[in-house]
Formats: sequence, C-alpha cells, structure tokens
Amino acid sequence: MPNYVKKLIVKPSSKIRLKHFDPGYHGKHESHKSALPEIQENRQKMEDLQYLMYAENKHSLLIVLQGLDAAGKDGVVRHVLTGMNPSGCVAVNFKEPTAKELAHDFLWRVHPHVPAKGSVAIFNRSHYEDVLVVRVHGLVPEKVWSKRYDQINDFEQLIVTENNTTILKFFLYISKQEQLDRFKKRLDDPTRQWKISESDYKEREYWGDYIKAFEDVLTKTSTDHAPWFIIPSNHKWLRDLAISQIIVRQMEAMRMQFPKPTVNLAEIRREYHQAEDGEKAGRPKKR
Ligand code: AMP
Ligand code: MG
Repeated sequence: MPNYVKKLIVKPSSKIRLKHFDPGYHGKHESHKSALPEIQENRQKMEDLQYLMYAENKHSLLIVLQGLDAAGKDGVVRHVLTGMNPSGCVAVNFKEPTAKELAHDFLWRVHPHVPAKGSVAIFNRSHYEDVLVVRVHGLVPEKVWSKRYDQINDFEQLIVTENNTTILKFFLYISKQEQLDRFKKRLDDPTRQWKISESDYKEREYWGDYIKAFEDVLTKTSTDHAPWFIIPSNHKWLRDLAISQIIVRQMEAMRMQFPKPTVNLAEIRREYHQAEDGEKAGRPKKR
C-alpha cells in the first residue's frame, strides 16, 4: 500500500502547478470493491484512536476540507469520518459570512470552532474561502487578501503550539469534466436534486481563476505545522482511502496513551468487588 502521507503531501514552499497532478490517479486499486477493506480497516483504527484521544485529553485534531463544488467534501465527512464518535467530534460548515461576521476580521468566525483538547473538528470549507472565493470574485481588494496567507499561517501556528493541535488540510482535486458529470448525475437523482444550484454552473466560468487561487494556497500555506495534501478525487474510493490512511498515520504519530488510573485498583477491587462476591455466595458483608 503506498504511503499517502509521503505521496500526497505538499512540501513547504514547493511551487505547485496543478497541471502536474492527475485528479484521476487511482494507484493499484481498480475499483471501490478492492479498496473497501482498507478503508474499513482505517475507519476502525480511526475510531480507536479517537477514543484514545478523548481519554488522554492532551491532543486535538483539525481536519480542513477544501475543493471546488462537487469535489466530495460532504462525502468525506459522511464516508470517512463515520467511524468517529459524535461526542468529541464536530463538523463545521462555513457558508457565506453573515453581516455580523463580515464586520469582524476574517478569522473571528473560525477561532471558536477549533478543536478543544481531546477532540476532533472537521471544517467543511474554512478560513481558506477568504483567499479563494473572496479573491476570485474580488470581494475585498488584493492588498487585503494578499496579506491573508501570512495571517493564516500565524493563526495555524498559534493553534498548533498553544493547544497541541494537529492540522491536516485536504484539497480534493477533481477535473472540470468530472465536476460536470457529477452535476449531471444530480439532475437524474431525486436524492441529490436538492444540491443543484445554478450558481454552481456559473462558477465553472471561473475554473481557471479558482485553480490559480488554489495553487497559491498550496504554495504559500503548506507548512511543517499544518501541511496540505492534494487528494486525487475523481475516484471517490481513492479519495476516501488516501484521506483515511493519512488521518490514521498522523494520529498514530501522536503516540497517545491512556491516562493512568487515578485510584488504587487493588483497593477498589478489595473494597467493592470481593465484598459483593461474598454477598453473592451468601456470606454476610464484613465492614
Ligand atoms: P456550499 O458549501 O455548497 O454549502 O456553499 C457555501 C458557499 O459559501 C460557497 O459558495 C462558498 O464559496 C461560500 N463561502 C464560504 N465562505 C465564504 C467566505 N468567507 N466569503 C464568501 N463566500 C463564502
Ligand atoms: Mg455548493
């Protein structure tokens, strides 16, 4: 099995041109069926690791999902992260900012959602929209958005060093044709028609601008403390396999341990359980 951490990570300050990456890559796997056992194994490991994280209460994990419309961000939340226990794991969707949010700096609405010690947060879109859609549509002047890469790096550095957070950022990369195919499937599927919006089609006109904006994000904000991974996502199973493997490996690297019991186990056994065993056997309880 390839090591997807090594294969897909964006090394800090490498200049990214997405034309050199293949969104249709699928490695040795030819089908969902052949990848499924590995995905399921990773899900089980994630569940165990999250339980350990919750118990240890020292580390936290922030997962950031970005990608063009229909790249599969919702799918990752659904399929990959179902293994996690909802207590200790929260998914946050970042939509268009409200008037109140717009009256603050762009990180104001993000900070309250970063994970507390012992927990996992998944960002479905994130503060990166403020250098993606905001840049593509000129919602703020260039002199404002161009400063945000450094501001984001500083913000992420703060969370990592102050709160022992591991940050993993996934760019779900699909081709323009794959996006159109997925939009078309929505038209024919009554369970997905609700997702169709005309603005999604209109945004396709800006595809090249989005690619450029993503290239800058990947080039300027993949750091040692908060790396980006470029996930080939035309094949959903490869996407799920790669992301689940990367999460498992990075959680294992935290070297977490269950806390030592705070009570004397032998005493507890003697005091409460031997007496109970005696009662069951019909002997009077000694005090
Ligand atoms: P969806 O993910 O399909 O529910 O759509 C959410 C929409 O909110 C997308 O069109 C995003 O581009 C938009 N959005 C998210 N964050 C921002 C932001 N900071 N500024 C402007 N638009 C945003
Ligand atoms: Mg959308």
